[in-house]
Amino acid sequence: MSKPVIAIVGRPNVGKSTLFNRMIGERRAVVEDIPGITRDRIYGKAEWNNKTFLVVDTGGFQHDPGEDISRQVNRQVLIAVEEADVIVLLMDAENGVLPPDIELIDRLRQSGKRAFYAVNKIDGPKKEKALYDFYSAGVDLYPLSALSGYGYEELMDRIAGFLPEEGEEAFAYPRIAIVGRPNVGKSTLVNSLLGRERMIVSPVAGTTRDAVDSICSYYRKKYIIIDTAGIRRRGRMAKTAERYSFMRTLKNIEDCDVALLILDASEGVVELDQKIAGLIFQAKRGAVILLNKWDLVDKTSLALKEIEERVYQKLWFMRYAPILTISALSRQRVTKLFTLTDKIIAEGAKRIDTHELNRFLGNMLATREPALHKGKRVKIYYITQIKTSPPGFVIFTNCREGIKEQYIKFMENRLRERFSFKGVPVEIYVRQKN
Ligand code: GDP
Ligand code: GDP
Repeated sequence: MSKPVIAIVGRPNVGKSTLFNRMIGERRAVVEDIPGITRDRIYGKAEWNNKTFLVVDTGGFQHDPGEDISRQVNRQVLIAVEEADVIVLLMDAENGVLPPDIELIDRLRQSGKRAFYAVNKIDGPKKEKALYDFYSAGVDLYPLSALSGYGYEELMDRIAGFLPEEGEEAFAYPRIAIVGRPNVGKSTLVNSLLGRERMIVSPVAGTTRDAVDSICSYYRKKYIIIDTAGIRRRGRMAKTAERYSFMRTLKNIEDCDVALLILDASEGVVELDQKIAGLIFQAKRGAVILLNKWDLVDKTSLALKEIEERVYQKLWFMRYAPILTISALSRQRVTKLFTLTDKIIAEGAKRIDTHELNRFLGNMLATREPALHKGKRVKIYYITQIKTSPPGFVIFTNCREGIKEQYIKFMENRLRERFSFKGVPVEIYVRQKN
């Protein structure tokens, strides 16, 4: 089931990121510098009153932007509005209603989308007077302090009240998302998958968006290919309206079990590929890296292993994802995707027995213990698996700060050597135990 998307929009400096951070409620330091995540982290998962949704932070909207870059930001904001289910427009109590606010209000009215208008930086009841300056806007207003939380619960109750109840999964079939930048071969791949004779295409309705996913079968097993309608629709519109839709990519990734990241093997990994990979990583989804257009690659100059290594160097955080070389055009190896998807889902669902895990832990500690922390020995008492899809583990230690990122990485590698988990991310949490 597709998660609803809430977009936060407004002028620069009104408090959008502050509200965003409050909604996603995590301020965990990100250790690695992953493209599309650390520097411009703009989306996250949130929950309120048992409803879950995605929150998207957007750039500052400006009235009559002069510079190219601001025009581009404005365009992105409007795309976000178009693709979100609910919009929160933030204004700033210290400034009153300004032209960009008016413009956004007009746009939101035209969109017909459900919008909530909040006046931010109202840090307490005394400051509610500032609302008077906003009545001319003619919309319902919510006083808010994104910073202190004043008015936040009321706003969130109203937003959550508007969101659909968490639905049952439409089907239990594996859900495959095919993602990649323009021209890497997404539509070609989808067509070659769906075009095969033994595959039946039928629409699956019932997501919050108007897209239609396709079911296809391969040797009697059914799979859902996410948002092929979007891809085909775009194909029909030809190249005129070609644009990369960040939000659609994001939704498709969130909706899937396994994401197929398509790269153009003849061009290698570029920045946008890294960003899309970053989204898959952040969403903690199973993944396959598809090196498409393999027919165009000169296979005499580099060995496959070397080509793969180059890809992994650019997508170092996705080393867990297997690489498959394909040609969507000639259908070379494309049906391997189905068996690979099955395998990855099975890896993600694996549950390792606690005894076996602790035997593993003992062996691992015998080869390398965490380094001393402030002269103290760092012990790991035991490990247990707390979740699947993706697999998550907790280790208990006498010294939380003593378990460094490097050691976690080492542990993850050992876990993978022993238990595989090919194609899925692995999470390791550290808990203090005295
Ligand atoms: P953005 O550009 O819209 O994302 O705005 P930011 O979230 O970066 O906030 C801009 C500035 O306003 C920062 O200095 C925030 O600390 C401040 N700010 C955000 N929310 C509030 C609030 O509720 N009250 C006050 N007093 N300041 C706030
Ligand atoms: P999309 O924008 O990602 O959906 O990409 P398309 O499926 O529209 O493909 C872009 C171009 O790449 C088209 O001209 C395709 O014919 C071509 N293409 C796609 N897959 C392959 C392939 O495996 N080999 C070759 N040589 N060309 C391909």
